[in-house]
Amino acid sequence: MCGIVGYIGKNKCIPNIIEGLENLEYRGYDSAGIAYIKNNKIIIEKEVGKIINLKKKINLNDESYVGIGHTRWATHGKPSIINSHPHKVGKITIVHNGIIENYEKLKEELKEYNFKSQTDTEVLAALIDKLYKKENNILKVLNNLKNYIIGSYAIGLLVENDNNLYTIRKDSPLIIGVSEEGNFIASDVPAILKHTNKYYLLNNNEYAKLEQNKITIYEDGNIIEKKLLTFEGNMNSAMKNGYEHFMLKEIHEQPKVIMDTINTYIKDTNKLTEEFSFINKYNNIDIVACGSSYHVGLLGKQLITKYSNINVNVDIASEYRYTNHNYTNNHLIILISQSGETADTLAVLRNAKEQKINTMAIVNVIGSSIAREADKVIYTKAGPEISVATTKAYSTQFMIFSLIALYLGLKNNKIDKNIINEYNKIEDYINKIFTNENRIKKIAEKIHNNKDIFFIGRKIDYALCMEGSLKLKEISYIHSEAYAAGELKHGTISL
Ligand code: GLU
Repeated sequence: MCGIVGYIGKNKCIPNIIEGLENLEYRGYDSAGIAYIKNNKIIIEKEVGKIINLKKKINLNDESYVGIGHTRWATHGKPSIINSHPHKVGKITIVHNGIIENYEKLKEELKEYNFKSQTDTEVLAALIDKLYKKENNILKVLNNLKNYIIGSYAIGLLVENDNNLYTIRKDSPLIIGVSEEGNFIASDVPAILKHTNKYYLLNNNEYAKLEQNKITIYEDGNIIEKKLLTFEGNMNSAMKNGYEHFMLKEIHEQPKVIMDTINTYIKDTNKLTEEFSFINKYNNIDIVACGSSYHVGLLGKQLITKYSNINVNVDIASEYRYTNHNYTNNHLIILISQSGETADTLAVLRNAKEQKINTMAIVNVIGSSIAREADKVIYTKAGPEISVATTKAYSTQFMIFSLIALYLGLKNNKIDKNIINEYNKIEDYINKIFTNENRIKKIAEKIHNNKDIFFIGRKIDYALCMEGSLKLKEISYIHSEAYAAGELKHGTISL
């Protein structure tokens, strides 16, 4: 879900692509790569880590006028050179942002290909190559893609023996930048802003062919006329996608990333993955985390104990690591961390391993230390989180526990199986909250002059209050506390 930049034009493409990727660095990424055409041959370079590592590897001055670049935020397969984009399969080279949800099934059907990486993207490249072999018409293939793929994708694509640049998108962002010097594809405006503020916004399933001085956009096999847009803001506002803060942007990304998380574990719209069966064999679970992740743990405990007979204990990692624990021989430790690098949580994990206690991690960053070292990893699909005050990572972690509870509830006959269909509606429910933003503003206006604020709740609401209170502190610096409703008379009333 990170960055794509492509260029075709009068100037050398490599500097434009690299600079575009650098201007998308704020989105976060774990590796970077580039593919360009030189003397009718496709050259690919990739590197793990910062773009500077890639820059050191390539000749910025190489004679090439069309290419595609990528910064990857791994969703399938750890950050490594092999898993980095671009991926070339047969005659097709692509960079991809998004998640191909049915990639395992597609991989089965593409047995003739010898896959080198663990990515869903390489499967997508193979699918396009296979369709291209049959059709010999890349535009037709792009138009048909929607019939084969479940998931999200923004793609930049090069075809062997063809000097043009192709693109398509569905549910991942993509724009086409237009300048005198050449044309761009990009995930976001900052990538092109140095060259132009004129762009086309592709809608879902629209695709395009970019030539040096021509752009043709298609939908359903027909050429369409699109409005050329002008970006009026500056680099700073462009990076935040028009939102005032990264946090606000990330709050609004929640419907999408929550659905990405759900769709990773509920396949074909109503089949819950067996991935959570791992938990079933334990009688005792300790959930250990810090900050907001700890609050998710408290929610998780309520859900797990409601739908199973498992005994759950939740603790803060910086406490847990320094206190004593009596483990049963049937004990699991669940660690929650957005970054997968939270020091106290990592220390608990290492300690647990020394004591031969099984561990499971709920992590957002693939290939992070906690993800690598835990016995089992469940990934959230929140994408990179720039804001220090977590929002979308928190809600996707919560969603994982909701899915775990769903799994246990179904296994233990404590939940009606029709509830699975409700998960498809979550996106709409959240969007409804956003359409009511004025109501939220009114609440903020009402409370912002207070010096001390108490959040009061019971059960799940108490755990939510703890997160609400933390968020309020982090963002407004107003003193705030979360109280269990029944404890109201102990302390708050004295104040
Ligand atoms: N799912 C792809 C991968 O893991 C694309 C990730 C991205 O959007 O950067 O390689």
